[in-house]
Amino acid sequence: NLVNEAALCAARSDKKYLEMEDFEKAKDKVIMGSERRSMVISEEDRKMTAYHEAGHTLVGVMIPGLDPIHKVTIIPRGMALGLTQTLPEKDQLSFSKTQAENWIAFAFGGRAAEELIYKDFTAGAANDIKRATQMARRMVCEWGMSEKLGALAYEKHESPVFMGMSAGNTKDYSESKAQEIDAEVSRIINEGYATAVKIVKEKKDILESIAQALLQYETIDGAEVQMLLNGMKVEEIEKVRSNKKDGGGLGIPVTGITLAPDNKKDPVGNSGPVTA
Ligand code: ZN
Repeated sequence: NLVNEAALCAARSDKKYLEMEDFEKAKDKVIMGSERRSMVISEEDRKMTAYHEAGHTLVGVMIPGLDPIHKVTIIPRGMALGLTQTLPEKDQLSFSKTQAENWIAFAFGGRAAEELIYKDFTAGAANDIKRATQMARRMVCEWGMSEKLGALAYEKHESPVFMGMSAGNTKDYSESKAQEIDAEVSRIINEGYATAVKIVKEKKDILESIAQALLQYETIDGAEVQMLLNGMKVEEIEKVRSNKKDGGGLGIPVTGITLAPDNKKDPVGNSGPVTA
């Protein structure tokens, strides 16, 4: 499916070859759904999304041990107005307490940036909040990652519905334990949020440059985020990109699909917009 999508991408830009760029576009489409470029977004919403994604990205690069940032975009896809994509460097076989805490801080990066810049929140962070809360609850109830509650499994069972009546939910623990669990989940969430807030406050200038880069280019990749972090100016990204383009692509020949026979453009395929 991925290769097929990539071939279609290349064909659309009249290329004779598949390049990494085509696979990148194909991967995004397969994972996140099609771009919704026709969606009408106000400048204010666009700006808010840029700061939100810049917040995730900044927290993502500042906390060690998180998966590297692969790409950040404010082009709407599927249900999302923007997206910060991370890619693991190797297969993830286990997950530590520190990694879980770091991930929660990363999930709150968007909301922390909104609070810092706008002193207000949007409903856009709803999914982040949900996923962070689920993670914190699993840490406490399944993975024994709360010192206070120890290495116990706190399970809930949902009773089957019988003739339209449910006997309600039963759980393996007491009401007082339930309160302790809630308190621990809140503590983990609050700490993760505080970490995110601290990072976006301390590195506000970089948050600003990532957001400006997103508003200008719509999509930036992990290497470009790193360059901004190292103090590169937003306008200089353009220069870096044109240098990279001169280097050419992978030039994988396309087979099994008929492309335009007369490709007037560069055979290496330096065509089409830079942004995905
Ligand atoms: Zn978010």
